[in-house]
Amino acid sequence: MDRKTKPVLYIVIPCYNEEEVLPVTSPMFLKKIEDLVKMGKISEESRVMFVNDGSKDRTWEIITELSKKDRHFIGISQSRNRGHQNAVLAGMMEAKETCDITITIDCDGQDDINAMDEMVDAYLDGCEVVYGVRKKRTTDTFFKRFTAEGFYKFMNFMGAEVVFNHADYRLVSKRVLDAFSEYKEVNLFLRGMFPLVGFKSTSVYYDRAERIAGESHYPLKKMLGLAFDGITSLSIKPIRMITGLGMFFSILSFIGIVWAVIATFVGHTVLGWASTVCLICFMGGIQLLSLGVIGEYIGKIYMETKKRPRYIISERTYDHEDEE
Ligand code: UDP
Ligand code: MG
Repeated sequence: MDRKTKPVLYIVIPCYNEEEVLPVTSPMFLKKIEDLVKMGKISEESRVMFVNDGSKDRTWEIITELSKKDRHFIGISQSRNRGHQNAVLAGMMEAKETCDITITIDCDGQDDINAMDEMVDAYLDGCEVVYGVRKKRTTDTFFKRFTAEGFYKFMNFMGAEVVFNHADYRLVSKRVLDAFSEYKEVNLFLRGMFPLVGFKSTSVYYDRAERIAGESHYPLKKMLGLAFDGITSLSIKPIRMITGLGMFFSILSFIGIVWAVIATFVGHTVLGWASTVCLICFMGGIQLLSLGVIGEYIGKIYMETKKRPRYIISERTYDHEDEE
């Protein structure tokens, strides 16, 4: 395959209300680009691309200032806050017009940027997707570690294939992005979608530190939301489980009926009030739960049929053909 020896790398960084962190981490990203250029691994045309996800603080101003100071910094802005996944998608799709490879990373300095060297090496060795995988979670609180690891196990159990302990720190080549752009779904769960696209992939292991400044935007509630979204976007296993549950209870009900008939003939017809109520409650609960899960899928179908744009770029720090 024709591998360019010096690929153009775009580091794509979603930013939402990150005014505290950006001034600290942006020089680190720039230095990484410069170092990689010096080592002769990537092209001088490589860039650090910030994606402002409708921040309400000074994030966009900081990005524009950075872009004036150094040409390696560029930025795009989403028209409003659309969430991390959509911000990453916007950045990747914008970057793929000009770059050979993208590396997506959070802007809070949690992910070790030195893993990028290995990622680029893996690309030069012929890999198209390189997953950044956390070694261990010693810096996280027990609670975060427990919930986060449970998250991956639960996802896989529910039929959504994800790389264990891989979040959204990953190298993706333009080739894969071109194929990926054919995945038109509106409900995004990027880390579960890239394994579906295929191509040669590998993992690079790194340590994850604490956030340099600011606060996490992923409390437990959002994480549960992401897990649920991921599962219902990638797999229909929950619906299968409901079907299984339905079959199980149908068989149970059938046995119950047989038992009731026999009991009537034998003469023990003192059927208790409690058991009736229990059954009604139980069945009611199961039915509501099942309806809820099925409703979730119908909701997804509804959102998908609308075919709404997955991102809208409102501003750029550079000129773009589409702009009049
Ligand atoms: N982020 C975003 N849009 C959002 C929420 C978060 O672009 O609506 C960005 C955020 O700026 C950061 C990354 O997504 O770069 C991950 O967020 P965070 O660090 O808060 O999550 P955590 O690392 O705690 O899971
Ligand atoms: Mg973070």
